[in-house]
Amino acid sequence: MSEPKGRCKKMVVDRNSRMWRQVQCSRNATKDGFCGIHQPSAEAQRRAIVDARWRAERDLLVKQRTISQAERRVIDAAGAWRDKPWTDDDVEVSMLADAIDALRKAKKE
Ligand SMILES: [Zn+2]
Repeated sequence: MSEPKGRCKKMVVDRNSRMWRQVQCSRNATKDGFCGIHQPSAEAQRRAIVDARWRAERDLLVKQRTISQAERRVIDAAGAWRDKPWTDDDVEVSMLADAIDALRKAKKE
């Protein structure tokens, strides 16, 4: 066993002061001069969790936006088709089909 290592060497914001200043962490050092909270590996692990959560939120927002845009295309294409149901020109029908395909793809991704 190693001898007592004293206090954690991490500087933290002093919560007892009204002024912004840093003080040394008051916990006892458990390894490499840091307490359990301020272990570089523990900090990296917490950062990785926060980063992963942030990425997941961002990916969800991108997906929701892509779906909304695809839905808008379907509505527009359906509107164009509805306005000209008599025409032999099947441009509107193929536009609608493309928009539906894009929406299905966006929902799957
Ligand atoms: Zn500490």
